[in-house]
Amino acid sequence: MIVIFLGPPGAGKGTQAGHIVKRYGIPQLSTGDMLRAAVAAKTPVGVKAKAIMDAGDLVSDEIVAAIVEERIEQDDCAPGFLLDGFPRTVPQAEMLDAILTKKGRAVDAVIELKVDEAALLDRLRNRIKETKARGEEVRADDNEETFAKRLQVYREQTAPLIPYYKGQGKLREVDGMQTVEAVSADIDAILDRIQG
Ligand code: AMP
Repeated sequence: MIVIFLGPPGAGKGTQAGHIVKRYGIPQLSTGDMLRAAVAAKTPVGVKAKAIMDAGDLVSDEIVAAIVEERIEQDDCAPGFLLDGFPRTVPQAEMLDAILTKKGRAVDAVIELKVDEAALLDRLRNRIKETKARGEEVRADDNEETFAKRLQVYREQTAPLIPYYKGQGKLREVDGMQTVEAVSADIDAILDRIQG
């Protein structure tokens, strides 16, 4: 089962991904996590990506597509995987389709977490507070200024994926303003149907 999570920053993709990983036994592939690991390890990709990520902009389509292509060749992705934060542009979605077609695979469902933009800033403030309370370091791009930029990038570059996947008949909308448990239940209902 190959599933894509779509939604603006703060929609709850990371939270819900944890639930899906447990329930369906498929790995979560977060390009944001992979890029942050590359930045921390100071790999050539990480060195190039750092300033772009800190500014809330998008890393090049070719770089992220190559990272994902390499990752999905690993054994744990054989039963399927959950893509979190990829694709983020229409060219990335086209690259993903090409990569999967080569392997005789295809995306099963795209889950769009729909949330009020007004609620996103509150969620960001909470996330910062909770991260600090745990004694962990706040992400370099988790501040109000960069967040506004990330939201704008989402609207301009990522939201066009909604009609793209609607056209493929794969888009499933979930109300992300519900409780965490209710959102999980809606996602389960969609994915249970796919798994059959
Ligand atoms: P995230 O953890 O998904 O919010 O991603 C954090 C940052 O990593 C983004 O703001 C981008 O700079 C970069 N990034 C993550 N995924 C992608 C992607 N699919 N395409 C381009 N840049 C990405």
